[in-house]
Amino acid sequence: MSKRKPSRVHDTLIIGAGFGGLGAAIRLQQSGHQDFIILERSDRVGGTWRDNQYPGAACDIPSNLYSFSFAPNPDWSRTYSGAGEIFGYIKGLVEQFKLGPALRYQQDVTGLRFVEEQGYWEATTAAGDCWRARAVVMAAGGLANPGWPNINGRESFAGKVMHSARWDHDYDFSGKKVAVIGTGASAIQIVPELVKQAGQVKVFQRTAPWVLPRMDYASPDWARKLFAKAPRSQQLVRDALFWTHESVALAVIWNSPLTRVTERVASAHLARQVKDGWLRRQLTPHYTIGCKRVLISNDYYPALQQPNCKLITWPIDCINERGIRTAEGIEHQFDCIVFATGFDVQKTGTPFPVQGLGGRELAEEWQGGAQAYKSVNVSGYPNLHIIFGPNSGPGHNSALVYMEAQIDYAVQGIEALLRGDHAYLDVIPAVQTQHNLELQKRLARTNWNSGCKSWYLTADGFNATMYPGFATQYAQQLARFELADYRAVDRAAPAARRAAG
Ligand SMILES: Cc1cc2nc3c(=O)[nH]c(=O)nc-3n(C[C@H](O)[C@H](O)[C@H](O)COP(=O)(O)OP(=O)(O)OC[C@H]3O[C@@H](n4cnc5c(N)ncnc54)[C@H](O)[C@@H]3O)c2cc1C
Repeated sequence: MSKRKPSRVHDTLIIGAGFGGLGAAIRLQQSGHQDFIILERSDRVGGTWRDNQYPGAACDIPSNLYSFSFAPNPDWSRTYSGAGEIFGYIKGLVEQFKLGPALRYQQDVTGLRFVEEQGYWEATTAAGDCWRARAVVMAAGGLANPGWPNINGRESFAGKVMHSARWDHDYDFSGKKVAVIGTGASAIQIVPELVKQAGQVKVFQRTAPWVLPRMDYASPDWARKLFAKAPRSQQLVRDALFWTHESVALAVIWNSPLTRVTERVASAHLARQVKDGWLRRQLTPHYTIGCKRVLISNDYYPALQQPNCKLITWPIDCINERGIRTAEGIEHQFDCIVFATGFDVQKTGTPFPVQGLGGRELAEEWQGGAQAYKSVNVSGYPNLHIIFGPNSGPGHNSALVYMEAQIDYAVQGIEALLRGDHAYLDVIPAVQTQHNLELQKRLARTNWNSGCKSWYLTADGFNATMYPGFATQYAQQLARFELADYRAVDRAAPAARRAAG
C-alpha cells in the first residue's frame, strides 16, 4: 500500500541502474524519448560492479567488448579491467549522458501491477512511493541478489561471514583462518588474493571447474592514444574480439570437435600449472566443457599450491559455530567463511510480484520455469520489457552485446506503443508458445543440457536461462520489433469495454 501520492503517468519506468537500466535510458534518450524515470534500490548506480568489489574482481570478457558500443572508452587500463574501473565507467555514463535528473535512489520496487483500464503500470516501492508509466523496462539484474547454499547449520557459525557479492573491506584477513566455499567465477578470482593476506585458506570444492589460460595485458599508451584519436581503430579491435568470441560458441555451446580441442587446452593448462598428481586429479572436471561456465585464470592453480592454501574436496556435512565439518567427520575451524556461492537466479519466479492482465501473477506462471517471447516480452504482461529475461544468457560472448539487442528491441516496442497511441501491445500467446517450443528443442542439443548440475537449470533440469545459439543470431531475432506478433489494444478500448460491461 503506497503512503504517498502516485507520480504522474510517465512514458517509461526503468527498474535498476546497472548496465541494463542506464543503457535503456541512454537509448531512449537517443531515440528522442525523454520522459523516463530510473528507480534504483541502492544509493548509487553500478549494479553488478557496485556490489562485486571483492579482491581480484574483474570482467572475464575483454573490456573493449564488455562495454557499450555506443559509449566506447579508449582508456581501459588492461584487457580484463578490474571491478573498480568498470564501476567508474558506469558512473561516467551518468555524467556523459546527463542521466542524473532521471535517477531516483533508495526506491526498492516491491510490486508491479498493470492497471488495464488506464493502460499503465504502477510500481510500488519499500519507501512507500508509487510510480506510474505506460511502459516498463525491468533491468533489476539476473545476478543482483547473493545466493546462499543450503548447508545445515549455516547460520550457527560464530565467526565472520562474508558473501563475495557483499564484501566487507574493513575486515582484516591478516593471519586469519579463512574458508572459501565455492569454486566458480568469483572464487577463482578471490582465492589468489586471499592467500596473499590470510594466514590459512581452505577452498571447499564441490565440482572442479574447467579453467582456460587468461590472456591479460596492460593496455599500451600508444593504443589508448590511437583509440582516442581514431575511434574506428577501437571499433576494429572490438569487432575482432566479437568474432573470436563467437567462434568459441562452437566449442562451449555444442559438443563438437572444437569442444575436445578446448578441453585439451584446459587440461594442458592444468598439467602445466599443477605437477602433483593427486591435486591434478581433484582439479580435473568430469563433465563436458561448457556445461557450466568456463573460467579463465592464470593464478588460481598456483594459489591453491601455496603453503597456506588447501583444496578440500570432501562434501560439506554441516557448519557449526567453530567452522565446517566435512562428510568424513573432520572439523575445520575458521575465523571467517567466505561464501563465493553465486547468485539467487530467478529461474522459476520474479524478484518482486508482477501482476499483468486480469490480475495474473508472473511468478505463478513461471513456477515450472520462466518463459518469454525473445526473452524480452511476456504474453499477458503488456508493455513490459525485461532485460536478461528468460533464455537470454550468453555462454561465450559479452553480456552487453545481448543486452544492447534487448534494449534496442524494447525501445522499438516503446516507440510503437507511443507512436501508435495504443493502450498496450501484448504478445500473442501462440507466438510465444511456438517460440519456446523451438527454443527448448534447440537447447536439448546443447552442452548446458548434457547432464551436469549448474545454475542454468531448474531443479527439474529445465533450461530457463541460456540462449542456444550465436550472439549474432540472438541479436538478429531482436533486430526488428514485429507488430504482427503483438495484440494491439487501442487507447479507447478498455474504457469502452468497461462501459459495455
Ligand atoms: C562478479 C560478476 C562478474 C561478471 N562479469 C561479466 C563479464 O566479464 N562479462 C559478461 O558478459 N558478463 C559478466 N557478468 C554478468 C553481469 O551481470 C552483466 O554483464 C551485467 O552487469 C548485468 O547488468 P544488469 O543491469 O542487467 O544487472 P545489474 O548490474 O545486477 O543491475 C541491476 C540493478 O537493479 C537494482 N535492483 C535490483 N532489484 C531492484 C528492485 N527491486 N528495485 C529497484 N532496483 C533494483 C540493483 O540494485 C542493481 O543496481 C558478471 C556478473 C558478475 C556478478
